Amino acid sequence: MQPSAISRMSCLSLASKDALRGPVAIVALAVLAVGCQSTPRSTPVAPAADSLPASAPIVTTPRNWPDTRTYADPLSFVTRSFHLDLDVDFEKSQLRGTATLELDRVDPNSRELVLDTRDLQIDSVKTAPAGSDDFRTTHFVLDRRDAELGSALRIAMPRDAARVRIAYATTPQASGLQWLQPSQTVGKRLPFLFSQAQALHARSMAPLQDTPWIRATYTATLRVPAGLVAVMAAEGDADNRRGQTTFHFRMPQPIPSYLLALAVGDLEFQAIGPRTGVWAEPAVLAAAAWEFGDAEAMMTQTEALYGPYRWGRYDVLVLPPSFPFGGMENPRLTFMTPTVIAGDKSMVGVLAHELAHSWSGNLVTNATWRDGWLNEGFTTYFERRVMEAVYGEERARLEWGVGHQDLRLALMELRPDEAWQGALAPDLALHKDEGGSAVAYEKGALFLYQLERRFGRAQLDAFLQGWFDRHAFTSVTTPQFVAELQAGLMQQSPGKIDAAFLATWIDGAGLPVDAEFVQSDTLTRVDAQRLRWEQGSLTTDALQTTGWTLQEWLHFLNRATRPQPVARLQELDQRFRLTESRNAEIAHSWFRLALASDYPGLEPALERYLTSIGRMKLIEPLYEDLLQTPQGAAFARRVYAQARPGYHAIAQRGVDHLMQETP
Ligand SMILES: [Zn+2]
Repeated sequence: MQPSAISRMSCLSLASKDALRGPVAIVALAVLAVGCQSTPRSTPVAPAADSLPASAPIVTTPRNWPDTRTYADPLSFVTRSFHLDLDVDFEKSQLRGTATLELDRVDPNSRELVLDTRDLQIDSVKTAPAGSDDFRTTHFVLDRRDAELGSALRIAMPRDAARVRIAYATTPQASGLQWLQPSQTVGKRLPFLFSQAQALHARSMAPLQDTPWIRATYTATLRVPAGLVAVMAAEGDADNRRGQTTFHFRMPQPIPSYLLALAVGDLEFQAIGPRTGVWAEPAVLAAAAWEFGDAEAMMTQTEALYGPYRWGRYDVLVLPPSFPFGGMENPRLTFMTPTVIAGDKSMVGVLAHELAHSWSGNLVTNATWRDGWLNEGFTTYFERRVMEAVYGEERARLEWGVGHQDLRLALMELRPDEAWQGALAPDLALHKDEGGSAVAYEKGALFLYQLERRFGRAQLDAFLQGWFDRHAFTSVTTPQFVAELQAGLMQQSPGKIDAAFLATWIDGAGLPVDAEFVQSDTLTRVDAQRLRWEQGSLTTDALQTTGWTLQEWLHFLNRATRPQPVARLQELDQRFRLTESRNAEIAHSWFRLALASDYPGLEPALERYLTSIGRMKLIEPLYEDLLQTPQGAAFARRVYAQARPGYHAIAQRGVDHLMQETP
């Protein structure tokens, strides 16, 4: 996933009782304990997968490292595969049908299966022995709803039961589904449905063991109204095509539940390369195919770095503008915001990021959301490596530069009582419903960059390839990574880093003083111009911006001192037409600078902006800025009332919370 708002929004739900369970110091202790041994021994919390073939899924079920975001108990039952058979009903905004789960009984004495659900209507539950279709009704209880976790579905499991079939329906408020009216699409002709399961929303789509510890293969049948096309983050049958109303899918690789994904709409496909292509509404298909035209090259480069792509095809689905994230790494089919289709490939870093998740995240998965940096920090580092391989070193340096700035801002904005969120593996700070913070992404990437600097690229790459090979299709924890780092790189090349280095980076809040950053001469030149402009020795007319990339513009606007004199911003706006910018990222950075400087006359453009896109990274900070003044707050509330129905439930929840925080 791409980070959403880089703000303290990332940890809103820590008030929930479960969030505070588990000692923050576990990582440090694990790091130090292992690090202090003279001969480091691998003591991962979960079983090492070295002895298993790469394709054999294993489940990590350490009792001392609980996933506090699930009701599932993987020590009783584990889902091996499931089948969804669903009608997609746009009139009722409802998925309706059955989920059939194939289970392993881990504890032979287990008599109760607990599944995660949120706002599901459960009609009946039946069980059958393994391999049998003789389904018999069994007793079940749906617990009271918890605002954070949903409701546990408790199912009585007869001694011989290994299959469970649940007849159910979703509700219109399903947090993982957004049902769009035709008016909310580009074509304005047909409705649209898309899902977003990360982090805890798969349970609003189907009753499942909704934890990244457990991986399952699946098949699915979706029945949709005539004229619509269904896609899933899975392999589609050859006869899935426009004109059909029944679509079949299968996902032969085991996935964690948060990678379950579907979309239904007026969709067409265009191939990019032999393994890559784009799905989009017809009106945006050509532009999207051009923008993402380097997907095949990116795949080839990522494979050269981290080993074979193991998911078959890699396609991109372009969603309507209400999609709350930059991208979502659903396997085989990245879900993408249309706000990155800029016509100049300036934002395809998002594509490199989502593709890189095919390794870090999808292939080797964080075992709990606390370990989110293993997904996002790794992926951000890989994204930069892929950008370097495809577009050259300077482009990668620019992206690093923008990332460093995001990280500095995120750390700066943490209140003293939130400082612990500056750690890589904090106590469930990465609660992604409200959007991951820049710490997991950028500090995580920077940590890998430190390893690159100290051990050398070739050594780090070899170690990471081994990491992916050893843990393919499994879920991993932070202590497990640390233990392997110690048994691997640190043992091969002693003296490069020590336990204190690991503790500072992984468990320490903020950035170590000796952190090395990627330097960009281009951005240094932008800074030099900006300083002269701010000091008055360079006029606005004399700014040399010809050929500036998006990253240079973002750097200029994000680093500008605030407040700026209104007259100087007016000159800037007149020359570069920033208020009217059609680039969503530039407009966002400009609006923030202008709001901080009380720039007059922004409202019409800002209102258009906030009511036309729902990508959290680009809207939440603006609401937060507006809420700082009574006048801004009044404007924000009026615009939000109008924009809210068009936002995804995840974005609604984030902005609702901002509004409630402000009296
Ligand atoms: Zn990501």
